[in-house]
Amino acid sequence: MFGGDEKLESIYREVVNRNPGETEFHQAVGEVLSSLPPVLAKHPEFYEYKIIERLCEPDRQIIFRVVWEDDKGRLHINRGFRVQFNNALGPYKGGLRFHPSVYLGVVKFLGFEQVFKNALTGMPIGGAKGGSDFDPHGKSDREVMNFCRRFMTELHQYLGEEIDIPAGDIGVGQREIGYLFGQYKRLTHRFEAGVITGKKLNWGGSQVRTEATGYGLVYFMDEMLRDHKKSFDDMKVTISGSGNVAIYAAEKVTQLGGKVIAMSDSNGVIYDESGIDVETVKRIKEVERKRIKEYTKFHETAAYYEGGNIWEIKTDIALPCATENEITGRDAKILIKNGVIAIGEGANMPTTPEGIKAFMDAGILFGPAKAANAGGVATSALEMIQNSRHDVWTFEYTDKRLKEIMENIYRTCSETAEEYGVPGNLSRGANIAGFLKVATAMIEQGIV
Ligand code: NDP
Repeated sequence: MFGGDEKLESIYREVVNRNPGETEFHQAVGEVLSSLPPVLAKHPEFYEYKIIERLCEPDRQIIFRVVWEDDKGRLHINRGFRVQFNNALGPYKGGLRFHPSVYLGVVKFLGFEQVFKNALTGMPIGGAKGGSDFDPHGKSDREVMNFCRRFMTELHQYLGEEIDIPAGDIGVGQREIGYLFGQYKRLTHRFEAGVITGKKLNWGGSQVRTEATGYGLVYFMDEMLRDHKKSFDDMKVTISGSGNVAIYAAEKVTQLGGKVIAMSDSNGVIYDESGIDVETVKRIKEVERKRIKEYTKFHETAAYYEGGNIWEIKTDIALPCATENEITGRDAKILIKNGVIAIGEGANMPTTPEGIKAFMDAGILFGPAKAANAGGVATSALEMIQNSRHDVWTFEYTDKRLKEIMENIYRTCSETAEEYGVPGNLSRGANIAGFLKVATAMIEQGIV
């Protein structure tokens, strides 16, 4: 796994021992560390300063109880988390996830990834992540608000526009961001717009933030395809999930001439060979907050498969945009057998190590999450800039900045992969480029 580097091997083993049961965190650390042997051969000082050990230990881990009341007056108890991972490049920055599967291991894997992703954006932001095992599905607006208020009551003391700036993730969209910000404002008596990103446009949000992760993913993939004399034009595309990332990836793919033939949610898959209408998906998921199977009521050419596996559908390009480890080694083999040419990770760590290996061995173009889904956090940083200047940019200008950032990230990953002897391996390129930036800053800032 670590190219025979025994020091790396023993650091990894120590991480596993010190963080028992946190399998997603182990996976994320293993994936980054396996890219580092050529870097450490060139930079032995990173060992001397124990940079890797320091990077694998979060700066701070906050765990708290959240008690909230439902519409019937019953009390519920959830667990809240914020892991402030590393602030060598700027204030902690990273989203909040509300989903029953959230526990410390998930938050740490996401926070660890965020450190390198944020470095790749070229913006001055450190890495963090947070969330709760609260499930917003089936809750009323009032219940979601009650939960968000209680969550922020505990968390607000650790936040600040120069300290730690949360945003959305699974289960946390503009509605939740609104409730969280409202409570922060009430507790601090400050309209500190830059303390949270993903806000509504009319009170400090940025144009393109809603679209940013999905659009950014497609800009990144478009640049990669162009580099290989290909494009989205006439390509069949499958996109897992039907949340924020999936919807706007689908919208941009369609704008670039591709055809989205399948999308999903955690219950099932919709398939339409003639192309999925993104506006219908938006209405069902964003406005009505219903299940994806509703789609077939509006489009008779579409079919719905309860419990279906989207990766069994023949496609040219696959964009996993739902959750971690959703493409297994088996799924990867099916996609390859069916002729897939490119994978773009919209979700965080959506491909298992076996899946990544299968894609690499088959020479499939592979856009890793750290790089390909960095558009969301990059645009969050653009939102912070606008907030700090009390400025509002246009959609066109913000979108242009996002596109430039994504093209830049692609070039950085590609050139770094080339420089470190793994041309075309963007996973390695992303890990190395992100690591170098953070590691160098850590040395420059001394032993803290
Ligand atoms: P949303 O909550 O908006 O949507 C998530 C989608 O994925 C839903 O369709 C959901 O279905 C599906 N999903 C979630 N968990 C599972 C599961 N265990 N199995 C199957 N389907 C599942 O989240 P986002 O779109 O914001 O996030 C999606 C991914 O993108 C996550 O990995 C997130 O970390 C990553 N990401 C998001 C960014 C952002 O800006 N939003 C930025 C960078 C990365 P259902 O409704 O049925 O649960």
